[in-house]
Amino acid sequence: MARLSLHRTGNSDYSRGYLRSRAWFARRRRWFEEVRAMGMEPGCVVCGMTEAAGRQDQVSLDLHHVSYAGVDKTESGRWIAAEEHQDLMPMCRGHHQRLHRMMDGRKEFYGWDRERATIWIITHLIRTEETADTDDETRKDA
Ligand SMILES: [Zn+2]
Ligand SMILES: [Zn+2]
Repeated sequence: MARLSLHRTGNSDYSRGYLRSRAWFARRRRWFEEVRAMGMEPGCVVCGMTEAAGRQDQVSLDLHHVSYAGVDKTESGRWIAAEEHQDLMPMCRGHHQRLHRMMDGRKEFYGWDRERATIWIITHLIRTEETADTDDETRKDA
């Protein structure tokens, strides 16, 4: 029962506990190492911003949890970070915050699976981003 609630969106036990845990920091570091070991630089799934590009102003990428299925807590209260690679999604801080504002603030997502809501919102954000780009082009030409 406790485990089920972990899959809901906006669980405060995660933001207050897990996301500040040593286990999560190590898992996060390993995620970036794995991508770089494949010769790629992780970028925001919406706008493509990379940590390298943002380094000047100390920008770092967030990893959004598409699923918390790999996260668990032992009886003694120790966090276990066994997320699958694809359960984590790189996002710049701005897009990550926008995703959570939509996911956590909209009634229509409450009954949704976190993964389904994430994909829907990211698709929406990419579309919005593309529209914004088009507007810029138009303004430049005008
Ligand atoms: Zn972004
Ligand atoms: Zn997130």
